[in-house]
Amino acid sequence: MAKYIFITGGVVSSLGKGVAAAGCGALLQSRGYTVHARKFDPYLNIDPGTMSPFQHGEVYVTNDGYETDLDLGYYERFLGAQLSRNDSVSGGRIYWDVLNAERHGDYLGATVQMIPHVTNKIKEYISAPTDTDFVVCEIGGTVGDIEGQIFLESIRQFANQVGRRNVMFVHLTLAPYLEKSGELKTKPTQMSVRRLLENGIQADMLIVRTPRMLTSDERAKIGMFCNMPAQNVISGIDVDNIYKIPLAYEGQHVFDIIAEHFGLPSATGDMTRFQKIEHHLSADLPTVHIGVVGKYFEVPDAYKSLNEALFHAGIQNNVHVKIKKINAESFSADECTGLDGILVPGGFGNRGVAGKISAANYARENRVPYMGICLGMQVAVIEFARNVLGIADADSTEFSKNCTPVIDIMADCDAEDMGGTLRLGAYPCVISPSSRAHQIYGKTEISERHRHRYEMDVSLREKFQQAGMKISGLSPDGKLPEIIEIPDHPFFVAGQFHPEFQSSPYSGHPMFNAFIAAALRHKH
Ligand code: GLN
Repeated sequence: MAKYIFITGGVVSSLGKGVAAAGCGALLQSRGYTVHARKFDPYLNIDPGTMSPFQHGEVYVTNDGYETDLDLGYYERFLGAQLSRNDSVSGGRIYWDVLNAERHGDYLGATVQMIPHVTNKIKEYISAPTDTDFVVCEIGGTVGDIEGQIFLESIRQFANQVGRRNVMFVHLTLAPYLEKSGELKTKPTQMSVRRLLENGIQADMLIVRTPRMLTSDERAKIGMFCNMPAQNVISGIDVDNIYKIPLAYEGQHVFDIIAEHFGLPSATGDMTRFQKIEHHLSADLPTVHIGVVGKYFEVPDAYKSLNEALFHAGIQNNVHVKIKKINAESFSADECTGLDGILVPGGFGNRGVAGKISAANYARENRVPYMGICLGMQVAVIEFARNVLGIADADSTEFSKNCTPVIDIMADCDAEDMGGTLRLGAYPCVISPSSRAHQIYGKTEISERHRHRYEMDVSLREKFQQAGMKISGLSPDGKLPEIIEIPDHPFFVAGQFHPEFQSSPYSGHPMFNAFIAAALRHKH
């Protein structure tokens, strides 16, 4: 059985439990252990799919087509873990499962109760088998939240069942700094740990978010009040880049604390992959300027995975990537002067589409490297149809009903297979040999994640190809265009999928890596 590290949070929300959990997991990986991640969100929505992006940032999509929030992205990126719908579970889903089972008669007439029926359901998700040595498991919300109680009770029971040495409780808190008295206050941390104790959970390690490192006196004081050795009180200081966190933990011997708890042999870790990123951040390197023509900039983290993927590709190419946010709704070509690359990301609805089409036009005509993601591929196709093929009213049926549709809902698509209405999750794509896409990926079969409803009409293939735009990636049945490119252009490549969800800080993603390489060539 895997060993579990549960991460809870107290005092305030948004302390960065996901990143802290991923940071602990990274230290284990650096010693050769394998790590899986899970997240439990006590809220009552059944899944985050229906939640406003204004509350949750981007919608992150897993391989199995689950629409989740961006925390899962941290785990996949940091740990290289492959997460599925059963690794991101909300309170709503737990109750839904329990109530459906009740209606189904599965409880054989028993009185259905929070304990044991709800707690058993939570523990079922917690303990689903993995093939890893460890599972880092984040409990969303803040200790003391009413809807979180049942999750704390479940992890208490779980630890009791599998043994305290198979489970470690890490609690994240805040030590505010009071300007007036010049003091770092530890009381909220003490109260939060006590609150956790009321649920029968003794924290084994604390990560205290503070503006500066805790002094040894402060650590001793917190440890004394919170039942742990001073060295188990870690300073979670603010960093300007999340990939510095594993190094910050390493410097405070977090692995040794974890090893001691689980009885693992001591080991030095290979931290080179994080050192490489840290070094990159401060290195004196050329900067490429990428214009992202989008429309969700007012939503914090709406383009989280995209920004990450561009950053990762910068690391691979030894350049700094500077993103210029260009609002598609007020797009003007002037905003593109000095750009080394233009990227049109995904999006839904008519708002800003005209600007995105103009951006694709600008990139094509001025031979500026262009990368299109999902809607960014669709607008490139519309632009090409209008301005090269001369189909003045070419459009997507998402935006216009009386048009020549070049992008449309595919009539023979099996709606069930498409996850209701959207094509969601990983789908295979076959790449034509000797295309640019082939050069980029270095293979002819790939898998990328989707989240869209409309598709390019594949019957246009010949017409487009003769005029200079090639479909270089297709679904295996040949019906759905997946990648388009303009061979006679320094770099004009777009995919119907979202490559940003599979970008890794340690190796980037082939399409982003190639785009940034092209941007660097353009700069020179
Ligand atoms: N709105 C488009 C569609 O549904 C593109 C979606 C996207 O960019 N993710 O097909």
